[in-house]
Amino acid sequence: AHDQLSKYNKIEAFVKGFKLSTSSYKRVMHLLNQEMNQGLMRHSQPLADIKMFPTFVRSLPDGSEKGDFLALDLGGTNFRVLLVRLQGHDIDIQSKTYLIPQRIMLGTGTQLFDHIADCIGKFVRDHNLSGQTLPLGFTFSFPCKQEGLAKARLSKWTKGFRCEGVVGEDICQLLQEALKRRTNCSVEIVAIVNDAVGTLMSAAHVDRNCEIGLILGTGCNACYMETLENVQTWDEEKSHPDQVIINTEWGAFGDNGCLDFLRTEYDRELDTFSINPGRQIMEKMIGGMYMGEIVRLVLERLNMEGLLFRSVDNECDLFERGRFYTKYVSEIESDTDDFYHNTKQVLDEIGVENYTTEDCKIVKYVCTLISARAAFLAAAGLATLINRINKTDITIAVDGSLYRFHPRFHNLMCLKIQELVKPGIKFKLALSHDGSGKGAALTAAVSLRLR
Ligand code: ADP
Repeated sequence: AHDQLSKYNKIEAFVKGFKLSTSSYKRVMHLLNQEMNQGLMRHSQPLADIKMFPTFVRSLPDGSEKGDFLALDLGGTNFRVLLVRLQGHDIDIQSKTYLIPQRIMLGTGTQLFDHIADCIGKFVRDHNLSGQTLPLGFTFSFPCKQEGLAKARLSKWTKGFRCEGVVGEDICQLLQEALKRRTNCSVEIVAIVNDAVGTLMSAAHVDRNCEIGLILGTGCNACYMETLENVQTWDEEKSHPDQVIINTEWGAFGDNGCLDFLRTEYDRELDTFSINPGRQIMEKMIGGMYMGEIVRLVLERLNMEGLLFRSVDNECDLFERGRFYTKYVSEIESDTDDFYHNTKQVLDEIGVENYTTEDCKIVKYVCTLISARAAFLAAAGLATLINRINKTDITIAVDGSLYRFHPRFHNLMCLKIQELVKPGIKFKLALSHDGSGKGAALTAAVSLRLR
C-alpha cells in the first residue's frame, strides 16, 4: 500500500500542471480581456495577438430568409459543398464532402483553389444547377482580415494548412478566378464567414438570445456581437445597426508569452514539433488537433519513468507523434465502470500490450485532467465574452466534434462558466447544427435581403 501511494504521488508530480486554480482562470480572463481591448484599438491592433476582426456581418437572421444558396466549407478536416434551400424555418440541405489531400494542403494556393473549383463544378453538374446564377456563402475558417462581406485577406494559415501564395490575398477573388478558370458555372460569392460566425448565425436563426459562437473542433475560436462604439478599427459607416460580429481569433491568445505561467512541459514539446511553433498557443491547449497528442506525451513520459505499462514495444504508436487521436480521449472517458472496455480497445489499437487495470485507470485519469483543462480554458474565454456583452440572458452557439462527442465537455464548461461570470447572468450552451453550411447560406441571405 505504501508503494502504491508513492507511485501515485510520483504520477501526480508529472500531471499536476494541468490542475489550475480558479484564480489562474480568473487571471486568464483578465489577460484575455486586456488583449481583446488591444485588438479593438486602432493603434495597438496591428501588434495584437488576438486580432478581433470585424466581420461585416451586422444583422442576425430573423427567420424570413428565403432562396437557394450554395455554401462551401473549408477549414479543417473536410471540404464540403452544400446546396441550402431556405424557406423561413424550413431548411433543406444537400451536401457532399470532398477530401483535401495533404499534398494540396501543403502545396500552392492555385492548386488549392483549382481543386475547390473542380469540386464545385462537379457538384453543380451533379445537382443539375447549371444555367442559373447561384449566390454562395463561403465558410473559410482561417484568420482573415475582412474588407467587406465578400472580401477577406488571409492573415495566416493554421490547423495543418500551409498553401503558398495565399497569405495577404483576397480569398474570394482567388476562388472567383479559379471558378472562371476551371468551370463555366455562374456563382456569385456574396459572403465569406468563418465557422464561428456561421455557427452563431445558424443558431441565431432559432434563438434570439444567441450572441456568441464557439468552435471546438480541429481548432478553437469564438465570435460575438459587439457594439460599434467599442470597435475603433471599424472604418466603415456607422449607420444602424450599430453592431458588428467580431471574429476574435482567440486561438492565438498566449502567442506573446502571457500564458507561459500555466503551460506545461508537454504543451511546450507539442508546440516545438508543430508546423507553427510559437503560434496558436491557446488553441494548442484546447483544439482537437492537439489534445490527443498532449495525452500521448504524458503517457509516454509516465512510461519512461516506469510508472505506466510494464513492457511496451518500441514500435508501439504510443511513441509516434500524432498517433493518439483526440477521439480516443472521448472514448476512454466514456468508460464508466472498472471494466475499462473502451480504454482497453484504444490500448489494443495503438499496440500497447500487457496493460493492467491499474494502467487503464491511470490512462483515463490523464485524459480527464487534460480535457478538463481544455474545457475550463474555453469556459474562461466564454465567461470573458459573456461579461463583456453584459446582458442577463445569453445563448452561446457551439459546434465542433470535440464539443459534440466528448462526454463531459458541455458539463465541465457550464460549471466553470457559472463560477466565472458576473452573478445574475443566465447563459445557455446550445449545439448549433450545420453552422458552416446553414450559417454561411443565412449570412448570404441576410445580406441579399438588406441590399
Ligand atoms: P473541423 O475541422 O471543421 O473543426 P470537426 O469539428 O469535425 O471539424 O473537428 C475535427 C477534430 O475533432 C479533429 O481534430 C478530431 O481530432 C476531433 N475529433 C473527432 N472525433 C472526436 C471525438 N469523438 N471526440 C473528440 N474529438 C474528436
